[in-house]
Amino acid sequence: MSEFDLINQYFKTASVTREDVALGIGDDCALLSPPPGMQLAISTDTLISGVHFPENTSAEDIGYKSLAVNLSDLAAMGAEPAWVSLAISLPEADEKWIASFIHGFHQLATTHNISLIGGDTTRGHLSITVNVIGFVNKQKALRRDRAKAGDLVCVTGTLGNAQAGLKLLLSNCSIDKQFSMLVESLNRPQPQLKAGQLLTNYRVAAIDISDGLFADLQHICDASECGAMIELNDLPLSRELETYYQYKPVWSDILTGGDDYQLCFCCSEADFMSIQPLFEEHQISLSCIGRMVREKQLLCTLQGEVQNSLNVKGYNHFEEER
Ligand code: ADP
Ligand code: MG
Repeated sequence: MSEFDLINQYFKTASVTREDVALGIGDDCALLSPPPGMQLAISTDTLISGVHFPENTSAEDIGYKSLAVNLSDLAAMGAEPAWVSLAISLPEADEKWIASFIHGFHQLATTHNISLIGGDTTRGHLSITVNVIGFVNKQKALRRDRAKAGDLVCVTGTLGNAQAGLKLLLSNCSIDKQFSMLVESLNRPQPQLKAGQLLTNYRVAAIDISDGLFADLQHICDASECGAMIELNDLPLSRELETYYQYKPVWSDILTGGDDYQLCFCCSEADFMSIQPLFEEHQISLSCIGRMVREKQLLCTLQGEVQNSLNVKGYNHFEEER
């Protein structure tokens, strides 16, 4: 099967139809009509086999996750998804694999009404680069540099599930049914688009947690030129993760594990009072885990005691091996 047959048979047919796509897959460029008055939010993420997902991950999960992690970046800016391009490098034209991959991708694309408008298909080591484009009202994007000392630090959902799921997968043992949710969190993250969009009406600094809470909250601190103090006992943990840790959570793993794809955001106490019922109305779980502070330091406390011995660092691709 040629590159062009693959494009026509799999990628072209899986595209969601949108009126603002004047010309989609098939020409040298796509032609898009952005709505007047909106800013475009654009982000790219690459997933490499063996780095971003274990090599035995199913094609369907890879398809889903490659879009999910990119949608999560749009969520972190408060943007509404519109268009996506897909550059994929494949070791071989395995039609069954591609059909499953695009099925997983298309499932999530349909949920969020995002249209596949182009891409590139090449032969090589399995790698997927997705580029998403969304809309956000001018002056309303959730930038990292908007936090102030005194703000509350909040997170959506629960943390640490995916890193535990990865450990379970890598242990090569059969996975107990009670922990399937942890593996599901790793393979099928839920981008928090609604939460991000709801936050655009407030002064909020936000980030999606991809490299672990500690590293990602540090990015907000750096951009906003302040620090943060978080209370470990206030971190939201799932019932499954509590069971996995037998009620003795390994905080450093939870803080640095990555792949959570929840939102971490900072807002004033007054705004929190109206954000909380709003999230409840939309059934988005929300936890307040600490505060932004003036001193440029990110500190963790456990029942109020500062924890100095936590070995916490986010995932860094170019970190030198020690
Ligand atoms: P060109 O050589 O002009 O760059 P290509 O032959 O690479 O064009 O691609 C032909 C068309 O198919 C283009 O519209 C391109 O955007 C689209 N396309 C190629 N690969 C993919 C893919 N993996 N997913 C979606 N669209 C794709
Ligand atoms: Mg090309």
